[in-house]
Amino acid sequence: MSDAGRIAARRLGAEELARNFADIHVPLDRERALIEASRCYFCYDAPCIQACPTGIDIPGFIRKIATDNVKGAAVTILGENIMGGACARVCPVEILCESACVRETQESRPIQIGALQRYATDWLFERKLQPFIRAPSTGKRVAVVGAGPAGLACAHRLALRGHEVTIFEARPKAGGLNEYGIAAYKVPADFVQAEVAFILGIGGLKIEFGKALGRDISLSDLRRDFDAVFLGMGLAGTNALALEGEHLPGVMDAVAYIERLRQEPDKGALEIGRRVVVIGGGNTAIDIAVQSKRLGAEDVTIVYRRGPDHMGATWHEQELAQTNGVTIKHWARPLRLVAHQGRLKEVEFEYTQLDERGRLTSTGDRFTLLADMLFKAIGQNFVSAPLGNGGAEPLEFVGGRIQVNADRKTSLTGVWAGGDCVPGDDLTVSAVQDGKLAAEAIDRTLRSA
Ligand code: SF4
Repeated sequence: MSDAGRIAARRLGAEELARNFADIHVPLDRERALIEASRCYFCYDAPCIQACPTGIDIPGFIRKIATDNVKGAAVTILGENIMGGACARVCPVEILCESACVRETQESRPIQIGALQRYATDWLFERKLQPFIRAPSTGKRVAVVGAGPAGLACAHRLALRGHEVTIFEARPKAGGLNEYGIAAYKVPADFVQAEVAFILGIGGLKIEFGKALGRDISLSDLRRDFDAVFLGMGLAGTNALALEGEHLPGVMDAVAYIERLRQEPDKGALEIGRRVVVIGGGNTAIDIAVQSKRLGAEDVTIVYRRGPDHMGATWHEQELAQTNGVTIKHWARPLRLVAHQGRLKEVEFEYTQLDERGRLTSTGDRFTLLADMLFKAIGQNFVSAPLGNGGAEPLEFVGGRIQVNADRKTSLTGVWAGGDCVPGDDLTVSAVQDGKLAAEAIDRTLRSA
């Protein structure tokens, strides 16, 4: 094989690419939604509600679908989770609400809560209905940093309570990870922007694009100019392998490539290798591996240093990778990236194991994989430098992220935070809950001032 053919664009035709990047989930039609809703037991003290980070009244909205009150179902969902449409697509329901459903037995399967949630929210969005009405203006102004799920959820709830909100977003579009960081077949780009438009539709909030904290705005200025500040800027840094050969052509950061892939309307224009290796075990590793395959890579192998149960990606995501032809190799870590004529040629690994004290160690056995592209998907980190030095009042951190209390209040007076920049599980649904809780706490604080 010539070197020129190892990384190439247009490995697949336009039709196949369009199929590969179309919405992966088939939505429920009315008939199937009614049948699915009728399977719910409408449990008292429903365990599915406890398992939902935003506490949606799941049996309540399913009952409304069962009686054909789809608008009511959507309002029940969105009242607790304003990004219920996105969460219906990206939530790992297999470890949240659906895993708690009492209908999951050996003989049966859980209620398709995610699919029903999508049915109801899509119904509302398609009709462009705006069910939320702002409270009379309070005259208070709140700054929100970041137009991702946490920032948008916080801003919407604050606007609902009558406050004026300005969102500062560094990128040209709102939506955060839903817009820039999720596999294209899970959340189509037009859906993300439709959801953003719905959120902004309540009024009383505006977004200033191209405004990055630490570059165009400062935390001290925001604290001076606004009545409260919410920080929801996510994770800006990516972890490095710290290995020989890491900067070779063909070695890429999975997060950056996914961002490019999501923003590229002509997927065929993206170059992809024949043999792709992905290092990591989370959803980003699965997303880049499956999308590499769907761009036309022949061999895609995820290599993870621990076992399947340790992976950040759920069993459902692992299964998705495998059914897309991705090989997952467990218990191995990269040692060296080997070049040929200045490009990546192969990756050397060593097998790992847990010792008697549960520590990850090497077995001493090694193997190599041929690779013309390698994606690093080994996690992201919070970059605190844009926050500044905090002045006289220090901003506290824990585990490298901003420390918050149950109300998502930071150690700084008048500053709240949520989403990936605070400790937690880094799920969209949890970011929405952070934003919602912070907004309610900000509202209480501003009203008592
Ligand atoms: Fe319905 Fe399952 Fe929730 Fe019970 S646990 S209310 S059956 S979705």
